[in-house]
Amino acid sequence: MAVTKSETTVLKNFINGQWVESSGTETLEVPNPATGEVLAKVPISTKEDVEKAVQVAKKAFETWKNTPVPKRARVMFTFHHLLNEHHEALAKLVVLENGKAYKEAYGEIQRGIECVEFAAGAPTLMMGESLAGIAEDIDSEMFRYPLGVVGGITPFNFPMMVPLWMFPLAIACGNTFVLKPSERTPILANKLAELFTEAGAPAGVLNIVHGAHDVVNALIDHEDIQAISFVGSQPVAKYVYERAAAKGKRVQALSGAKNHHIVMPDADIELAAQHIISSAFGSAGQRCMACSAVVVVGDNEKFVQVLKQKADELIIGNGLDEEVLLTPVIRQSHREKVLGYIEKGIEEGATLLRDGRKEMEELPQGNFLGPTIFDHVTPEMTIAKEEIFAPVLSLLRAADLDEALAYIRKSRYGNGATIYTKDAKAVRKFREEADAGMLGINVGVPATMAFFPFSGWKDSFYGDLHVNGKDGVNFYTRKKMITSRFDF
Ligand code: NAD
Repeated sequence: MAVTKSETTVLKNFINGQWVESSGTETLEVPNPATGEVLAKVPISTKEDVEKAVQVAKKAFETWKNTPVPKRARVMFTFHHLLNEHHEALAKLVVLENGKAYKEAYGEIQRGIECVEFAAGAPTLMMGESLAGIAEDIDSEMFRYPLGVVGGITPFNFPMMVPLWMFPLAIACGNTFVLKPSERTPILANKLAELFTEAGAPAGVLNIVHGAHDVVNALIDHEDIQAISFVGSQPVAKYVYERAAAKGKRVQALSGAKNHHIVMPDADIELAAQHIISSAFGSAGQRCMACSAVVVVGDNEKFVQVLKQKADELIIGNGLDEEVLLTPVIRQSHREKVLGYIEKGIEEGATLLRDGRKEMEELPQGNFLGPTIFDHVTPEMTIAKEEIFAPVLSLLRAADLDEALAYIRKSRYGNGATIYTKDAKAVRKFREEADAGMLGINVGVPATMAFFPFSGWKDSFYGDLHVNGKDGVNFYTRKKMITSRFDF
């Protein structure tokens, strides 16, 4: 499943089981972040393209909602089989268009496959509830039904996993779907549509409209779209949430992050440093669960030294090279923004412990930036507050766990947080008081699996029901209550 020559031309939308040209005239190049080679062009589709996709999805819903749930689940079983069969090829494609290391991409495909596995349990997941005898000779039952057409809008950093957080479960629950993948990583979405169709999904059940904000606005505003699943940066997540909710839609909008890792004085230094390095610099720091701030508790210079040493030893390069951990960031423009944050950190008085800008010169092709570490960062500094989404790590110093927890509380974000310690009391205090939705105890990336909700808090999530797990099922279904009298 290599990128074929035809993909260097303009990608097509996928509507009603057909590959169709966008009606838009604009396109964007999709360069490989490691080499700059243009892999494809993505069309900037229009409101008219969205209209077609939504009408098709609306029509397909009429049949799909009445397709028996086990039959819908069987499509997921076949899809699961196909994804496993193409695991390596899909991972290579993720490396090409996103730039992350092959191992990370392989892991991402695995996480996506697990979402399909979960969705294949639809007959159990969609079961309702009943109670005989709510009154004399009267029973009550609850059934679950799909909503209709669901819109999904996804980011560049997990081109496989995030779409698979959404459409398999939504569709297994009986909905039909219109996906707008990131315009920076659109190729993999088309491969997913290909495999989903091969798995037996009827035409119109999954549709893809490529593009940017116009497509997003058209999806949000469309009266035939019942719900919106969004994953992306904070300002856009908030915007999507507010605009879609104002239109009366069900919305889940997963947003940015600033994840703190607390290193307690008793932590296993080797383990903590290793986990922090791969959490902060893996995928070039472009993970919503990446460690971006370390809170060093007490006077632990040894840990800082070991961390710096490990950062110095990191292998930087093209993700297809097996040795590599640190890969390029997604675009030159993103790197420019990150360089601005590095300048800001220096200007605001943080100590630049390791300057990753030097590796930019060693790797002039591609959007590389070496591991960058700031020490003595304070919570008021810009680099401590904002999501940088790059291999730039801030070290904050705290006298004790209370102070470290206060830093987490102060952050506007609440996706994840981790503590490194062997102290059971510290673990419990952290579990009870850390102000974030996904916690790690000696775990570098405490991302949840498909059967648990992906539970960001504060400005890391807008909505009520998270993606995945039972929350996901509740999000993609509505309930009907039946009360029956039998005393006639
Ligand atoms: P992004 O916000 O730039 O784009 C996300 C989607 O929104 C894309 O499909 C894009 O086309 C669309 N979009 C962008 N600007 C828009 C606008 N002005 N109006 C309407 N739509 C718009 O995000 P990204 O850079 O692709 O992804 C990285 C971000 O996603 C990071 O902030 C990261 O933390 C976040 N993220 C969060 C989670 C989570 O679980 N909380 C998971 C993955 C990524």
